[in-house]
Amino acid sequence: MPSIEAKRLEALYGLEILDTPREERFDRITRTAVRLFRMPKSLLAFVDENRAWVKSEVGTSIDWVPRESSFSELAIESDEPLVVPDVRKDRRFSEHPLVVGPDRIRSLAAHPLRTPDGYRVGALAVMDSEPHAFSEEELQALTDLCRLAEEELADIELTRLLKLNIGIQARVRAVMDATSEGILLIGRDRVMGYHNRRFLDLFGLKAEQIDGHPLASLDGFIDRIFDEPDEFRRSIDEADERPEAHTRFVIKQHYPEVRDLEVYAAPVTDRKGRGLGRLHAFRDVTRERELDRMKDEFVSLVSHELRTPLTSIKGYVDLLIDGDAGEVTEEQKEFLDIVKNNSDRLVLLVNDLLDVSRIEAGRINLRVHPVDLPDCIDEVATSLRPLMEQKRQSLKLELPADLPEVRADRDRVVQIMTNLLSNAHKYTLEGGTVSVRAQAGEDEVRVEVSDTGVGMTADERDKLFTKFFRAQNPATQNISGTGLGLNIVKSLVEKQGGRIWVTSEPMKGSTFTFTIPTDGPTRAAAATTSASEARAPVTKVGTRILVVDDEPDIAGLIQRYLERGGYQVLVAHDAHTALEMARRERPDLTWNQIRYQRCSQRWRGCWPPPSRLTHRRDRLRGWWWCLCVGWYGSTSKANCARG
Ligand code: ADP
Repeated sequence: MPSIEAKRLEALYGLEILDTPREERFDRITRTAVRLFRMPKSLLAFVDENRAWVKSEVGTSIDWVPRESSFSELAIESDEPLVVPDVRKDRRFSEHPLVVGPDRIRSLAAHPLRTPDGYRVGALAVMDSEPHAFSEEELQALTDLCRLAEEELADIELTRLLKLNIGIQARVRAVMDATSEGILLIGRDRVMGYHNRRFLDLFGLKAEQIDGHPLASLDGFIDRIFDEPDEFRRSIDEADERPEAHTRFVIKQHYPEVRDLEVYAAPVTDRKGRGLGRLHAFRDVTRERELDRMKDEFVSLVSHELRTPLTSIKGYVDLLIDGDAGEVTEEQKEFLDIVKNNSDRLVLLVNDLLDVSRIEAGRINLRVHPVDLPDCIDEVATSLRPLMEQKRQSLKLELPADLPEVRADRDRVVQIMTNLLSNAHKYTLEGGTVSVRAQAGEDEVRVEVSDTGVGMTADERDKLFTKFFRAQNPATQNISGTGLGLNIVKSLVEKQGGRIWVTSEPMKGSTFTFTIPTDGPTRAAAATTSASEARAPVTKVGTRILVVDDEPDIAGLIQRYLERGGYQVLVAHDAHTALEMARRERPDLTWNQIRYQRCSQRWRGCWPPPSRLTHRRDRLRGWWWCLCVGWYGSTSKANCARG
């Protein structure tokens, strides 16, 4: 804590008055003092650390005196004036230069001078060469003169603060102008206040169009600047409705340049906490987004390229294990199982990566139908039960019979449930319990997946849905995983109009809860398929199937599996051969994995015609896709159809 003397000195130095030239404003006061008191001498001095420095004087010959022997030093000790009617009778001044020197003063009155903050920094004195008994009236006059001097000090302080303020403002503006973000303050009355230069540059606006104008006056510009001007207005309005909230949204701009902009808005308050409006920061994220897009494309490309050889490895290993290429010994089977397990892990990773990149690129289309949730959950539970039994875990299902149907993509619901249930199984120790409960809400169904497993800390819970996050728990550190599952689950739940959250306690267990609306996702992203499109392919033994795949290994694999199932198989590796074969051999069904570019004409006369051949026929940038069912090793048909 600084002492009072330290604060007093700080106030004095803050005035920046020491060792400055004489000033008329103070000389006027000392001149008035000598006239008023009819005395020959007056001085106005400031007391710093070591001296009393004289700012103004009349009739004396001194610039400063050592602090310890000055009248001012005594005068600043209290708010009362120092009055000495006869200095010769006061031993304190026997050595004072004004007493013993040529000035030879005999009487004096000195009044302390205070800064606006009340610190006594100096004194105003009147002195006579004769002894003088100061009257009350005279002392009052001295106080009045002091007040005038103090007003001058206040004026100096104010000017200094103003300069400081102007300096700070200039610096703040320079800093704001140098930032890479465009900044706009919109007041509570929707009038635009502060903006920086970058804001003008970003949108090609002029300062006079902004300051003091209502936001609505920019309507024409907003229409010109943004791809979706109404979306921009809506986002600003929404943020306005929650004045305390920090909001963020991304919007595309096409004028004067094409950019992706991230808009961050935060409330601005004055020092007393009164709202001044919202500050909007516009950040150009075009490059970031481009990099993201490139990264996603890269991941997607690599994953696709990995998937084909993986499918081959997995498929042929399965054939070997099943004895299709002859008897395998116990040891060979053991080694093949290791290859199979590791390729399973790779397939999972690649599929997760592909899902993430599709979700992030907004390329997930939902096929929404009424879905019977208990049926879905039963299916997943049945497939996972053997795994759970291996760990002696019990699986309990509480699925009310009168649960309403939800509108969702069944395959995606299966994916969500598979992930949550397999996590519950993975992160629960031997002998634990996993329960699934479903209950109907007002316009949604709520599904809870609980376990008595290792649980997680609050910190881990917060990061759970981020990509690649895996909690560090010694009890489960050997369990393999990608850290992508829950990220995908969250996106899939939200895309279908639901929510997901988790409660958990370390070593007690976790409960993952998600909702699915009964009236389906509101977003347009959900593409509804017709009943015929959703129908599973119906084939009978003996059917002649033309397998078309430009990957000979994969085509061979499909051929083997189909032949094992009792079908007759023809194989083609390119569109031309496929068309020839289709014409010549008239297959009952085509299993197609290649694209036919602008060749729909050529199918004329083929049997079966393309419409009969395909379950899905999408016109996509001039390409015809003829797709029966995809093939991803041992993944389910549900997964395949997504390819
Ligand atoms: P993965 O299981 O492949 O690692 P997920 O995204 O499915 O990836 O899960 C991320 C992390 O969340 C897991 O690594 C695990 O640490 C934690 N986790 C998920 N489910 C549970 C659960 N039921 N109990 C405890 N921890 C869990």
